[in-house]
Amino acid sequence: MNRMRSWARFAPLPLTVKLMAVNILLVVSLAAVVLVAWRMLPAEADAAADVILLTDAQRANQNADMLHDAMRSDVLASLLAGQAPGMSAESVRESLRRHASEFRAEIGRLNKMPLKPEARQSVVEAYISGLHYLAVTEQHVELGLADRNAGLAEIPVFETAYEEAKTALSRQADELARASVQVQATSRAAAEQAQRWLALAAAVSVFVGWICVALVARSIRRSLTSLSEVAVAIAEGDLERRSGVQTKDEVGLLASSINQMADRLHQMIDHTRRDAEQGTFGRELVEALEMADSEPRAHAVVARAMREISGTHAMELLLADSSNAQLERAAEHPELGAPGCMVDAAFSCSAVRRGHALQFAHSGALNACPALRGRPEGERSAACVPVTFMGRALGVLHATGGVHSPLSAHQMQRLSTLGAQAGSRIGTVRAFERTQLQAATDSLTGLANRRTAEARMRQWFQEGRNFALVMCDLDHFKRLNDTHGHPAGDDALRSFSETVRACARAQDLLARWGGEEFAFLLADAEAEDALAWSDRVRQRLAQTLRAGSKPIFTASFGIAHASGAPTPELLVHRADDALYRAKAEGRDRAVLATSSHLAEPMAAARNASEQCATLDLQMMATQE
Ligand code: GH3
Ligand code: MG
Ligand code: MG
Repeated sequence: MNRMRSWARFAPLPLTVKLMAVNILLVVSLAAVVLVAWRMLPAEADAAADVILLTDAQRANQNADMLHDAMRSDVLASLLAGQAPGMSAESVRESLRRHASEFRAEIGRLNKMPLKPEARQSVVEAYISGLHYLAVTEQHVELGLADRNAGLAEIPVFETAYEEAKTALSRQADELARASVQVQATSRAAAEQAQRWLALAAAVSVFVGWICVALVARSIRRSLTSLSEVAVAIAEGDLERRSGVQTKDEVGLLASSINQMADRLHQMIDHTRRDAEQGTFGRELVEALEMADSEPRAHAVVARAMREISGTHAMELLLADSSNAQLERAAEHPELGAPGCMVDAAFSCSAVRRGHALQFAHSGALNACPALRGRPEGERSAACVPVTFMGRALGVLHATGGVHSPLSAHQMQRLSTLGAQAGSRIGTVRAFERTQLQAATDSLTGLANRRTAEARMRQWFQEGRNFALVMCDLDHFKRLNDTHGHPAGDDALRSFSETVRACARAQDLLARWGGEEFAFLLADAEAEDALAWSDRVRQRLAQTLRAGSKPIFTASFGIAHASGAPTPELLVHRADDALYRAKAEGRDRAVLATSSHLAEPMAAARNASEQCATLDLQMMATQE
């Protein structure tokens, strides 16, 4: 555990510090080797000094032994002094003095040598025996020189001292020899131990150095291997993969750089993916809206797109139609429904007024939209995107969510795309419908125009529908224009249209045929029903005009049923003929087409009508 902890402390260090540490450890190991060698040197030197000392001691012992024998010779010479030629008492004394002096010096030198205690004992004993022998020898020489017989008699005493000294010197020689062997063995052992210590220190140094280098290499190798794996994983597309190497060394810096690179790469790919998704969403939205050929269908596409944007935010599309500034809900989230924005008019919406998307993190915030406050569901986050077409506000897209889960930037982007595309499509559909309506409508009266009436007639014929055609012409309209002016004539045309509209049903088609002529297609009506209806129109017109201050006028009606004509053109002819008959019969009336009238020449009817008109004019002129 401790080893692991110390390694964990070591591992994050910079590489240079690690190498420095290895270097220091190697220097310490080398210093240990030198120290061991240094400590071994005195031991060897001591052993060598001991050897020299013992060698010197052995030499002194040999000298003492030889002098010991020489002194014995001097004793024998003292017994022969004066009897042998050249052997005087003086020469004997001189010889003994020289030998005794040297003997004393040798055993004295031995006695002062700093020998080990085990050798010391024999040296002391030899020294004492030597001194005793020295004294006995000197006495015996003097005795022998003085009295030869007395000297001879004392020989046994001398021999005893001689033997004792001999024995002591011999024991001393043995002890010194043994000590010498021991010192040599000790010296050899010290040398061997020094070798062992040096070998051990060298081995430990090499081992420590190897361990350190191995640890540094291991830490670098493991980190680099891990980094290599991470780099390969990232290269293969695993963009979530990161290196866990957090050391402060160069490898840690490399790991941090690779992680940063992966983060950046991840962000860029995320961005690209989101752009692609956004592009896909925008493209699919445009395709779906292009297929929506009416406003309700466009609203349905918007609702489906809301589901694509978020599954957790309620949304709604509030639109104001061109004639009404009031905002009304046109679409809502299919699952989560509408948030229920309380803004009623488009211009009351902050996003519409400012002309760009707004996001409110908290409905309780100081700058939150006032319409967000006080909602029954409590505090909400919200987003509002204006819906415009060619710079004109059509409405707003509104989304709400939890306070802690506002729409993300990605979702806001989609909501903005939806706002722009929905505005474009709804505006286009409205413009197209307006154009179509204008093409199909008479601008003065607001009724359908002749083309629309003809198309509807053809359609109803193809469908085999039961209907009646009422052709209508205002009576003496030229005169009304002439008398009251053209604007009054226009006003009369509008009043008549209103009267007819008030009498018609939703399924009927009311059209201005041209000038002051009209065509009415009464669905599911028999000829008699159309006749009764025409009379009701006439009566209502009369009542209305009487009640007002506008010029009074009347209208004539010609009625034909679809079942009496094989084609729309013939049906029109029949109704037209009936109309002319109504004119001819005095105007302000409705006349049913009959089969007999089909055979009558058109010109005759027209002539009759024109004649009647002339008469009426004359009558009216007379009345005025
Ligand atoms: P009749 O009873 O026989 O139908 O006589 P009329 O005067 O109504 O018939 P005529 O065909 O002689 O005159 C039709 C008049 O309707 C002529 C024209 O000035 C008028 N008129 C046609 N279109 C308009 C219009 O859009 N506005 C106005 N003010 N007058 C129109
Ligand atoms: Mg006319
Ligand atoms: Mg007319």
